[in-house]
Amino acid sequence: MRTHILGYPRIGSKRELKKACEQYWSGRTSLQDLLETGKNLSLQHWMLQQEAGIDLIPCNDFSYYDQVLDMSLSVGAIPARYQELIDKDSYSEMDLYFAMARGYQKDGLDITAMEMTKWFDTNYHYIVPEFHKNQQFRFFSQKIINEFIRAKQAGINAKPVITGLVTYLLLGKEKEDGFDKLDLAPKLLLVYTEILKELESHGAQWIQFDEPFLALDLSDKAKETYKWVYHEIRKQFPDLKFIIATYFEGLKDNLSLAVSLPMDVLHIDLVRSPEQLDEVLKVIPGSLSLSLGVVDGRNIWKNDLEKSLRFIKKTVNALGTERVLIAPSCSLLHSPFDLDIEKNEKVLSPEIKQWMAFAKQKLYEVAALKALASGIVNSKIQEQYIENTKSIVSRKTSPLIHNKTVKERIEAITPKDSQRKNTFNIRKEAQQKVLQLPLFPTTTIGSFPQTQEVRNWRAKFKKGEVTAEQYDTLLKKETEIAIHWQEEIGIDVLVHGEFERNDMVEYFGEQLAGFAFTQNGWVQSYGSRCVKPPVIYGDVYRPNPMTVYWSEYAQSLSKKWVKGMLTGPVTILQWSFVRDDQPRSVTCQQIALAIRDEVQDLEKAGIKIIQIDEPAIREGLPLRKEEWQNYLKWAVEAFKISASGVEDSTQIHTHMCYSEFNDIIQNIAEMDADVITIECSRSQMELLNAFADFKYPNEIGPGVYDIHSPRVPSKEEMVELLKKAQAVIPAHQLWVNPDCGLKTRHWDETEKALTAMVEAAKEASASYVTEEKLNNHWL
Ligand code: GLN
Ligand code: ZN
Repeated sequence: MRTHILGYPRIGSKRELKKACEQYWSGRTSLQDLLETGKNLSLQHWMLQQEAGIDLIPCNDFSYYDQVLDMSLSVGAIPARYQELIDKDSYSEMDLYFAMARGYQKDGLDITAMEMTKWFDTNYHYIVPEFHKNQQFRFFSQKIINEFIRAKQAGINAKPVITGLVTYLLLGKEKEDGFDKLDLAPKLLLVYTEILKELESHGAQWIQFDEPFLALDLSDKAKETYKWVYHEIRKQFPDLKFIIATYFEGLKDNLSLAVSLPMDVLHIDLVRSPEQLDEVLKVIPGSLSLSLGVVDGRNIWKNDLEKSLRFIKKTVNALGTERVLIAPSCSLLHSPFDLDIEKNEKVLSPEIKQWMAFAKQKLYEVAALKALASGIVNSKIQEQYIENTKSIVSRKTSPLIHNKTVKERIEAITPKDSQRKNTFNIRKEAQQKVLQLPLFPTTTIGSFPQTQEVRNWRAKFKKGEVTAEQYDTLLKKETEIAIHWQEEIGIDVLVHGEFERNDMVEYFGEQLAGFAFTQNGWVQSYGSRCVKPPVIYGDVYRPNPMTVYWSEYAQSLSKKWVKGMLTGPVTILQWSFVRDDQPRSVTCQQIALAIRDEVQDLEKAGIKIIQIDEPAIREGLPLRKEEWQNYLKWAVEAFKISASGVEDSTQIHTHMCYSEFNDIIQNIAEMDADVITIECSRSQMELLNAFADFKYPNEIGPGVYDIHSPRVPSKEEMVELLKKAQAVIPAHQLWVNPDCGLKTRHWDETEKALTAMVEAAKEASASYVTEEKLNNHWL
């Protein structure tokens, strides 16, 4: 029996990598410094795993930005627009790498970033590979090899983790018509072969191919590609041991395909799909070993060792110990780092903490499972086992978790609770009467840049170095400046700037019952950005209003409308670590009722426009199509419960980003928000075609510039995008706004960009009016 892990988080227990990257980007440190930090981190992580007793330790799971981007650089899938950068005298591979991730606007060059999107149903984002018809690949970056060698120097014969060839292709995007990305497999295989040869020559024995797509709905062609690719690889590398890793779903209809691939180990996710074990055991051929993903890589609850042992024993009985590997369900990239460093009992009480395990603790769970299953139990393991049993029982029975009033309110929900009083057309009239908005109204998504100063105040406030009163005054000043500045540049619907918020979910969680927090429970979201998801451990309700104070204050500063700003129930659910002792849908309903209370209180306080952000609704979509409608039904209903307690004249906005929405457009329309602002610019408004084909009835603000890049857009660019938008959506339905909140940007970029955006809206509006006049004249 062997233990292994599919990947380890790389950002560092104190987010060292984030800091090192950001310092390097801002020019404060050298490339040397950055690489030093990276090397130290991966070394530390290897050592940790070794100490915990993990048998097969991965390498190349480390990344400075994203593992898919790493792969693109490894196989030389570098879009042509970066050639200018490669041609420069002072060219460095890392600068190219970061330019692909973040865009490049320096030394007279102006190159846009590559697209970014969600990694399956997680909150991790990867950089989407771009493919062309005559796509060429070549063994470009040596990163995989270098990491393997470094591990070897540290005394570890590591298992390189490589994005599987088919998954890599399926993750990418065809940038022109007339070909199918899967047809690139033979060309790409040549490069994979080179990489494998090189690894083998350095002494690699194990290779892990991540093929999560093997657990998803596959076309016949994709299935054929799987067969072809892995038979070819086997033919060329008879001696390497290959692990093919699936996760986030069960193999289901791909089971026979998966077990037919001539690999050595198949990894399956038994947390997401425990029922697949029996099916797999029925058909697994004698040549294949099975890696059991029993420790949840996506959540923070302690493993129920007893339950996992049942899976392991069953497998050992069927296959024998030699053919069994024990592992977390997926890469620990999605787990926070180390529970041991959580010391603040005010936010995480000892009772709740003892129910939890982070990445480091999960290593020990995996190791303990092996010891327990093979009967080699020392006193330490015995202790761990007893303590585990105790905390599993305590969590099942704790009075901290259950609240009668909440449960009764859930029981009492009726269909009326998720319906606005009237249809959109009637509401629109009532709203326009009050709001009096111009054509192409401009707005932003909510947050403004959070300067170091603002963050410092919050840190000091939390430490008690600044009083609540001082903190309040500082935030008020910041808000006031933001309000007046928006008035000055001519934005139509203002926002208060969200300076009081650390994070759009944590801010609400902190004020809701049923949530606990960590101090260092960071998980990578994209590049250097991390999130610290709250932990929903018990029934949720809202003891007090959460945002009324700030919205009321901001509105008092201006005659223009200021939007109330809330995070929606699905997003709060999606971006938290959730209970696994009740269905997600029920937890979501509880949150929806809490947000509904808040929406009603904002309305009472005179806030006329309320935005309920649901950026995460798409990512909550199950990976298998057959489960979509069930999810969408409860998710849309939860949003509507939160939004429907108000008068017709109150305008409800929602906001979505990071995803492709074409396939759920019908459900987005069912959410019935009066206005939706949505990310669009990186895909050049492609998304709008879906809204147009569907004849989306309500108002829509397609983002006209990308806020994930420091690049400042020109007015002309945005006018162009607005024209594209008008070609498919009637002008009176359109709003003008950026792609997302501006929290991560700098003020100087933001000032330039928004000023240009307002000008673009004015220009679009003027030319629309002239055109209308012309049209009428000709009529
Ligand atoms: N209102 C939030 C903000 O502007 C929305 C963020 C998001 O969609 N991710 O920060
Ligand atoms: Zn957004």
